[in-house]
Amino acid sequence: MRISMVSEHASPLATVGGVDAGGQNVHVAELSAALVRRGHDVTVFTRRDSERLHWEQTLPNGVRLVNVDAGPAHAVPKDKLLPYIPAFAEQLANYWTDNPPNIVHGHFWMSGIASIEAVGKLQKQLLPPPVVAETFHALGVVKRRHQGTDDTSPAEREFLEPWVARSVDRVIATCPDEAFELRQLGVNRRRISVAPCGVDVEKFTPEGPARARGKRLRLAVVGRLVPRKGVDIVVSALALLAASGRRDIELLVVGGTSGKDRIASDPEARRLRELADSLGIGSQVIFVGQVPRDEMPELFRSLDAVVCTPWYEPFGIVPLEAMACGVPVIVSAVGGLQESVVDGVTGIHVPPKHPAALADAIAILADDPELRARFGAAGVERTRTRYTWDRVASDTERIYRAMLDHWDQPEADVAASRSRLRRVGEGAR
Ligand code: UDP
Repeated sequence: MRISMVSEHASPLATVGGVDAGGQNVHVAELSAALVRRGHDVTVFTRRDSERLHWEQTLPNGVRLVNVDAGPAHAVPKDKLLPYIPAFAEQLANYWTDNPPNIVHGHFWMSGIASIEAVGKLQKQLLPPPVVAETFHALGVVKRRHQGTDDTSPAEREFLEPWVARSVDRVIATCPDEAFELRQLGVNRRRISVAPCGVDVEKFTPEGPARARGKRLRLAVVGRLVPRKGVDIVVSALALLAASGRRDIELLVVGGTSGKDRIASDPEARRLRELADSLGIGSQVIFVGQVPRDEMPELFRSLDAVVCTPWYEPFGIVPLEAMACGVPVIVSAVGGLQESVVDGVTGIHVPPKHPAALADAIAILADDPELRARFGAAGVERTRTRYTWDRVASDTERIYRAMLDHWDQPEADVAASRSRLRRVGEGAR
């Protein structure tokens, strides 16, 4: 299949862990690479956000990357990208006129708009036109529910995102919880499929070098440093444990800004630092900053547990990475985390925004190295059987094929009705 992945703000080449680069970049990069391994021709389209980037390049893994000129050739926050989407769609349509794909797969709502618009422009030129799938990665309606007026998404998202959901041929949700939300937006059940995110189980393994560490129980939160990731809940839980005499625990905060001024220059890091200091546990919270992707397995292997307690989470790749490295996870029971982490088997579920429940869960793991080892081993098993990118790519391929078969249907119908007519004609003679 000739597959075009459209990912307007999330390039597979971006450094992840900042405010706008995280799971979506990893997802697009790894899914595309896995589809190439399965013999497909995959091109990723993203916005050119640096003068240094060429228009088109082929990555070492065989994925073609097109850096589309739409808006300024420098970083623009994703919530300010909507005005450049028409130009992005125009460029897509031009490219596809000469190189038509069978499948267009949009990632994030604005890529959905660009994909629908570009395919619309080609409708008459390309027959059959490419089919359009969409993975939202996050839904504005959920974001708004949790973030209220702090949500910086453009106002148009409220009606454009449901429009995308109802206009594409298929929406690929990453978990059943997201599928439910899509149903509430009026998307027909038959046009929703579920394919989860994955993890590279060749790189994220329990065996291999680990970062140096001391004797304290070592926990980490990993990800973009934004309030909805709930790192303050973890700090508060540590303070509760400290108050009950447990100070033998350290928390690594991985992600956010790197460099010497990583706390001063990052408002969320500053807020968390102040919180930890005010609760008297400043020395237990260590701001590591952004860690390059290829150093993440080493970091995971040095941990006793990963804590992931966001307010909401469309999927959450970090717990998969931790599990693949044999590390138990404590997660809030929200979104995709309810599915990927099995409570009492690969980790512990806690209610979101609940420091006391989280403190109890941390204490359970802290006191029981055997339980940690058992959860860790089960996590390795679960990720290797269910969440490899090859498995996710095969699920996705099946969804693409079903979409293409559906498109072939009218032609099959025409052929069937023609032969019926012929028989009727022959009978009449
Ligand atoms: N990540 C990283 N370095 C960092 C922080 C995060 O490589 O310093 C990676 C992390 O390993 C994971 C991704 O960023 O692959 C975060 O994905 P997730 O789905 O957990 O969160 P999202 O960014 O989608 O909210």
